Amino acid sequence: MSVVERQQWDVVVIGAGGAGLRAAIEARENGARTAVICKSLFGKAHTVMAEGGIAAAMGNVNSGDNWQVHFRDTMRGGKFLNQWRMAELHAKEAPDRVWELETWGALFDRTKDGRISQRNFGGHEYPRLAHVGDRTGLELIRTLQQKVVALQQEDHAESGDHEANLKVFQECTVTRVLTGDDGRVRGVFCYERESGRFFVIEAPSVVLATGGIGKSFKVTSNSWEYTGDGHALALLAGAPLLNMEFVQFHPTGMVWPPSVKGILVTESVRGDGGVLRNSDGKRFMFDYVPDVFKEKYAESEDEGDRWYDDPDHNRRPPELLPRDEVARAINAEVKAGRGSPHGGVFLDVSTRMPADVIRRRLPSMYHQFKELADVDITAEAMEVGPTCHYVMGGVAVDSDSAAARGVPGLFAAGEVAGGMHGSNRLGGNSLSDLLVFGRRAGLHAARYAAESPADDRPTVTDEQIDTASAEALRPFSAEAETRSEEPGTAPENPYTLHQELQQTMNDLVGIIRREGEMEEALRKLADLRVRARRAGVEGHRQFNPGWHLALDLRNMLLVSECIARAALERTESRGGHTREDRPGMDRSWRRVNLLCRLRESGAGVAAADPARGQIRLERDTPEPIRPDLLALFEKEELVKYLSEEELFD
Ligand code: FAD
Repeated sequence: MSVVERQQWDVVVIGAGGAGLRAAIEARENGARTAVICKSLFGKAHTVMAEGGIAAAMGNVNSGDNWQVHFRDTMRGGKFLNQWRMAELHAKEAPDRVWELETWGALFDRTKDGRISQRNFGGHEYPRLAHVGDRTGLELIRTLQQKVVALQQEDHAESGDHEANLKVFQECTVTRVLTGDDGRVRGVFCYERESGRFFVIEAPSVVLATGGIGKSFKVTSNSWEYTGDGHALALLAGAPLLNMEFVQFHPTGMVWPPSVKGILVTESVRGDGGVLRNSDGKRFMFDYVPDVFKEKYAESEDEGDRWYDDPDHNRRPPELLPRDEVARAINAEVKAGRGSPHGGVFLDVSTRMPADVIRRRLPSMYHQFKELADVDITAEAMEVGPTCHYVMGGVAVDSDSAAARGVPGLFAAGEVAGGMHGSNRLGGNSLSDLLVFGRRAGLHAARYAAESPADDRPTVTDEQIDTASAEALRPFSAEAETRSEEPGTAPENPYTLHQELQQTMNDLVGIIRREGEMEEALRKLADLRVRARRAGVEGHRQFNPGWHLALDLRNMLLVSECIARAALERTESRGGHTREDRPGMDRSWRRVNLLCRLRESGAGVAAADPARGQIRLERDTPEPIRPDLLALFEKEELVKYLSEEELFD
């Protein structure tokens, strides 16, 4: 039996990005003793990379903006597959969450009359993104971190212990959310990355705030943390994942040099006036405005250019279409042989703004290109192409409480949660999502924990700890096990497996999908799963990145199978899911949510035959959109999205 330290808290938040910190603050403020666990250093979560801004209908730059317009834009962007109640709450509550950040010390860029400035972004009808240059995520995390420290100082003043009610366990990874026989959450199993030591935190409420899945793809804007851990933890605990086929490929990642391929070029470049051109110098986006958006976008370059100064009397340029549309257009131009020398297209601000304005409004982009590609964006165009950026699919949650479906005590917020963005997220809507639903998850997790008295809580069993320890230690015994079970077979290198996985997902389940390729991907994933059982590492448990990766592979393989299976099942193209063999949106699919569930549950997963698929799909019908929200749209527009039954109900 393993001897593993146990601690008891009310709420455990897994993740210290925007969603996790906002959840932790709310849980602590509602009286819950709260532990935060994160893989990286405190303050280094992926959210710090966010550049462009936080979408919130404050109406500071254009007073025409309000929550109804934001709600409409979000639903259109998601092609009406959004969990509409989430989109409603998000649009209504985002302004309060931004103002609240300001009261906690955030310093946003200002308008001339001193209000929080807001910038244009794709798919948003009005300038809506509150920002701090192109480093908004950094300011968001800095502010939330400062708030955490302020709460810890309050606790110190009262109890003499900074960590009495809110403690951060940094550089620790959770490998299992543990549940009891009744399916309720009991706690989490974790390891310290530096020492390799295991520990258990017992708590009735766990909030998943682990971010995304991008590291399953070769070309991605995402950081090393994005191995889909929270998605996998939810599945393994018994919660379904929703609509995993929807993965956002951001249209503008760097394409050159190869070592930085995929790094993001923020949408603010286009929001502030940057234009896309092909190798003939043509602003090609005018050729790619889909019918559903035709009335809302400029038909000529002149009109598009006039919109920047006079948005009330002109339509916006098509460079500001939602991301899925722009990414597909770039892909098509490159495929047609009109790409840039390194396989992208040109994104130009140099001919659109004076150099000093570019340096002031886009300081990170200026430095990024200068240092990484030796390109001066004030004098020449950037080369850009699509990069895997965001997952719209995620843990199926209750819209109001962020409670994960089917696992009492489990909550999810931020990128790991599904539903809010439908089939495609609008830029800026993630940072606001983190704040709105991070707060809600923290609140409801605290309330749920309060229902269970601290001195009478079911605990994690020794057997559960032994099973979780054995699973985590398996890569160290892979060599011996492989030699005894399959003589003549060598253990597998986790880095090789990871590279093959990334290539498979990039090539076969990427931006443009085809039935045969997705079937091939599922075969390759089965083979990788078999080989991943033999993933072996050398050395010891003290900071051993090979071991960490071997453990992360379980999560990436689960998530990748979800994406491939759901993408094969959805026989239409919508938002972040484009099928060459099924072009066009099929209105009957609006009534279908695809849920991914684990075939075997709990410890059975480790024992199950890896060659068999681990995921099964279920179809689920979304709740009909509330009539007062439908009334915000013209009937002619709804006809483009809703199924016949919905229109005539
Ligand atoms: P994160 O900030 O990623 O935090 C996840 C946390 O979970 C981390 O602390 C991590 O250590 C922890 N974690 C993960 N797994 C485990 C585990 N197993 N055990 C313990 N801890 C774990 N969105 C916008 O709205 N506006 C923008 O301008 C914008 N710009 C972006 C720019 C870039 C380059 C990128 C990549 C994304 C951008 N996004 C933007 C998207 C947005 O940044 C993310 O969707 C968002 O930050 C996700 O936040 P989160 O709180 O869900 O997760």
